[in-house]
Amino acid sequence: YFVSPEQFGAEQVSIGGEDARHIAKVMRGKAGDKLIVSDGVSREALTEIASIETGEVVVNIVELLEMTHEPRIQVTVAQSLPKGDKLETVIQKCTEIGAVAFVPFLSERTIVQYDERKESKRLERWRKICKEAAEQAHRNIVPDVHSPLSWKQLLQSFSGYDAVYFCYEKEEGLQLRSAAAPWIAGLPAGFRGKVMVVVGPEGGFSPEECEAAEAAGAVSVGLGRRILRCETAGMVAAACILYESGE
Ligand code: SAM
Repeated sequence: YFVSPEQFGAEQVSIGGEDARHIAKVMRGKAGDKLIVSDGVSREALTEIASIETGEVVVNIVELLEMTHEPRIQVTVAQSLPKGDKLETVIQKCTEIGAVAFVPFLSERTIVQYDERKESKRLERWRKICKEAAEQAHRNIVPDVHSPLSWKQLLQSFSGYDAVYFCYEKEEGLQLRSAAAPWIAGLPAGFRGKVMVVVGPEGGFSPEECEAAEAAGAVSVGLGRRILRCETAGMVAAACILYESGE
């Protein structure tokens, strides 16, 4: 369960809302039961339930724990907004796989009309799915879900990463594994590399978009000889990078 970072200084932590209901009704928690609680950023603790009352579960911190479930390579999945609820699937599965952030964006062939007025509701839902997936996967952090970026903003964001892999369905040369493996192998011990994988919409990327991404610092890569659905590509790319890093 995740609680606010401010609560971590105290000996007791209070869990409210949906999480409290889940502990009480679904997990049938009772005083004395052990729970792992994380601040979602950098700390995690073994706790023991002190009391359960309607709407609130109070736990005592027993022991601060090492953050052992987070990979050294921090993978951000940038995904051109897909139709329907496919982004929910991407967020859920890539959170389980180990991605640390999601950046939805709009590109030339994005089909969905993004309605900014509905943004806060959609973001709220994406973040809820992300938090639940992080809990089930025993992540130490809850990955960030950003509000959608324009294509230009996405290109500008590339400079914040150590490597950006532009997954291009028409790339016949360099494959992601061949690009990422030597880079990962060459990382100094203890270095936390920041990587972004960029995935296109149902209609794919245009050659001009690929050129613009390369000019902005990305490396165009393929993900094998088959064309993956847009909701599958991010999972494959994230898993490939984390596999190469042994995490
Ligand atoms: N029409 C299908 C759909 O509706 O999902 C396939 C979409 S595919 C063109 C969407 C994106 O997935 C591409 O723009 C690319 O980012 C990624 N992708 C899929 N297969 C790939 C491959 N073999 N190599 C690299 N990227 C790939």
